[in-house]
Amino acid sequence: MQIYLDNAATTKPCKDAVDAVVDIAENNFANPSSLHGKGFSAEKLINEAKQEIAAVLSCKAEDIFFTSGATESNNLAIKGSAVTKRRDGKHIIISAIEHPSVMETIEFLKNYGYDVSVVYPAEDGRFKASDFIKEVTDHTVLVSCMLVNNEVGTILPVMEIADGIKRINPKIVVHCDAVQGFLKMPIKLRASGIDLMSFSSHKVQGFKGLGGLYIHKGTRLAPIFHGGMQQNGVRSGTEPVELIGALGEVVKQKRNSIAANTAHYKRLNSYLREQLDKIADISINSSIADAPYILNFSVAGIRSEIMLHYLEQFDIYVSSGSACSKGKKNYVLTAMGKTQAESDTAIRVSFCEETTTEMLDILVQKLVDGINSLAKTK
Ligand code: PMP
Repeated sequence: MQIYLDNAATTKPCKDAVDAVVDIAENNFANPSSLHGKGFSAEKLINEAKQEIAAVLSCKAEDIFFTSGATESNNLAIKGSAVTKRRDGKHIIISAIEHPSVMETIEFLKNYGYDVSVVYPAEDGRFKASDFIKEVTDHTVLVSCMLVNNEVGTILPVMEIADGIKRINPKIVVHCDAVQGFLKMPIKLRASGIDLMSFSSHKVQGFKGLGGLYIHKGTRLAPIFHGGMQQNGVRSGTEPVELIGALGEVVKQKRNSIAANTAHYKRLNSYLREQLDKIADISINSSIADAPYILNFSVAGIRSEIMLHYLEQFDIYVSSGSACSKGKKNYVLTAMGKTQAESDTAIRVSFCEETTTEMLDILVQKLVDGINSLAKTK
């Protein structure tokens, strides 16, 4: 039995997504900008997918834009706002645990004179909205805060932050990287203070190479790509109709199962916690208040990669942290107050709908075997 517990890195595309992609490639392959009927039919498919996404996010379909992935969505949101707002100020506020696609974009902007305030969690590991709000100055143009952290599962108070920021200055743009929350927890954009929100298709059993950005009407963004003016010029380039249609299908199928899936993930999470608590060498880094589908823990004395490859021999797939921060030191766990040793030995498991307690039993058994047989680095 293959035990795939790396769903925060990517998911296996579901049957509906695979069927949709084949059907669209065979029967609806025209360019959505073409003026003939086949082009119109492809465009219709895109609009239908937007309707599905808008329904799950409680927003308008015309506020949904497609990109090549959340990395691009985050770049577009942040660089696009910085360029449009450059005369209003050059101060940005972010959390200390943003994804590298946000962190590195912010680093890039620092070269152009942007000044950045980084918000850390309180002692209990939770983020307080007031800690973001108190960083606002007359020069603040953008606040970027993720909804769910990809490594630990921390849920950040994005709605509260957006609300507080807008009360101080409605012109400040609020961006949220919601990749790890999209289709997994209820998100209501209507009447929220969120202006921009990124999501990704391959994290929800759609395909890689497709991301999305919600852009609240009236939020102006300078484009990164210049070209054929598709998507109102916000993102030029022919839309990947196959991938978009597949995501539309995924959202349609899963939209009403968010609550049931959350209950399933909570059961798995508390089951795994109970088992891991019995192992002396393991300390759990994720808190009970975090997203239930991500659980991060450290195995004393055994480096993450060593344990990861040990488990792999038994067809068990986990992560040593974020797949996107390959080879880099884990700044997220450090920001969360964990020691270097805890960070170097961290394992992340992330669930999907198909994950079972039997799979977790096997994981726990192999972790115990690994702890007993692997050479300790201490
Ligand atoms: N943000 C977060 C929180 C993520 O987990 C990821 C994927 N690791 C991304 C952004 C980037 O998404 P994509 O792979 O679609 O570029």
